[in-house]
Amino acid sequence: MKNRILATKAFDLGKKIFKFNRSLTGSGNLKTLNFLKKINSKLKVFKIKSRTKVYDWVVPDEWVVKDAWIKDSSGKKIISFKENNLHLVGYSMPVKKKLNYKQLKKHLFFLENMKDAIPYKTSYYHKQWGFCMSYNQFKKLDQKETYEVNVNTSFKKGYMHYGEIKIKGQLKKEIFISTYICHPSMANDNLSGVIFSIFISKWIQTLKNRKYSYRIIFVPESIGSISYINRNISELKKNVVAGFNLTCIGDEGNFSMISSKNEDTLADKVTKEIFITEKIKFKKYSWLKRGSDEKHYCYPGTDLPLVNISRSLFNEFKEYHTSLDKLGTVVTIKGLEKSFKVFKKIILKIEKGHFLNLNIDNCIPQLSKRSLYPKIGATYKELNKKVQMIVNILSYSDGKTSNVEIAKKIKEKLPAVNKIISLLKRKKLIT
Ligand code: ZN
Repeated sequence: MKNRILATKAFDLGKKIFKFNRSLTGSGNLKTLNFLKKINSKLKVFKIKSRTKVYDWVVPDEWVVKDAWIKDSSGKKIISFKENNLHLVGYSMPVKKKLNYKQLKKHLFFLENMKDAIPYKTSYYHKQWGFCMSYNQFKKLDQKETYEVNVNTSFKKGYMHYGEIKIKGQLKKEIFISTYICHPSMANDNLSGVIFSIFISKWIQTLKNRKYSYRIIFVPESIGSISYINRNISELKKNVVAGFNLTCIGDEGNFSMISSKNEDTLADKVTKEIFITEKIKFKKYSWLKRGSDEKHYCYPGTDLPLVNISRSLFNEFKEYHTSLDKLGTVVTIKGLEKSFKVFKKIILKIEKGHFLNLNIDNCIPQLSKRSLYPKIGATYKELNKKVQMIVNILSYSDGKTSNVEIAKKIKEKLPAVNKIISLLKRKKLIT
């Protein structure tokens, strides 16, 4: 599928689902996932009960919003959730009362330096309520006025939903892609991740002779990825060779990557290599810049080999977490198109790479019983060159070092290395 077509389709989908009231839970998320299912029928929707304990966290109750507004004393609505769902602080608790200006102001959020922007605020784990508005709207409030506030919300024991697409390849080893679905009415953070990932899944399905299997997930940020890890950790740890957290992937800014902790995974290496060889301007951030779900996927104990890829990184573009993060201005077809082009190259590079995996789990194989090592113990220096190459190549068969890199590391010519690799494959020591 051509990148332009993918980008146009993704953008059109974005227009349809932009305004859904996505949050950690609630009907907006389910509606979004059902829309994604229409694009790729392989998407399965899963649910986790509210109040389920996941590690140190608890899945929150389902947040239901019927309506929310502020009226002035003449009964005129001056702020309405129905006009823009960003007006209501996410997970606001219900309230219906009259307040004077001073009392109301304590519950208002605005940005003095961005007069037209409604900020995006949430309060998932501390019960409170609030409204977000542009500074221009705030300035119009009358200090002598009495306002009526109605936050018609409720919390119920329900479910948190997430989506998962699994695509089989020749190997059980997987490439893992994750994006989050919990933001309402903002384009780059993170509708772009959602519309990009669903169409990249369609493209992956068209790859002939796919070597790797793929897992693409759509989860609420943090509690969703933590829950997903909780449910799938052993499979993920066993199979994932490279992972990507995708967010803010639809603007026209330069690419950004947040490295894994030690910057040494296959995902780190290939992403960087594509940026460099394709002469793509990018900024590499260290682990210290983590901020999205990569921080959970790479956390001690989980430790998946994953990087975050964005165009303009979250926090680094001025429209971030405001109503100005729009389709058409921030996220464009041109921006999406380039992201498709580059990310496809990263995937194809991993698909074509010749990465060696030991067939014997976790420890060094006994070579002498396979006639690959002298029968009488020998020091490294006493080994002939062939045996030296055998032990060295095996020691780099970690699934993330390519044959080309190994040849460089052990200072041997590639054809000679490939010859030993063929021998080790025949002996069933590596795949
Ligand atoms: Zn965000």
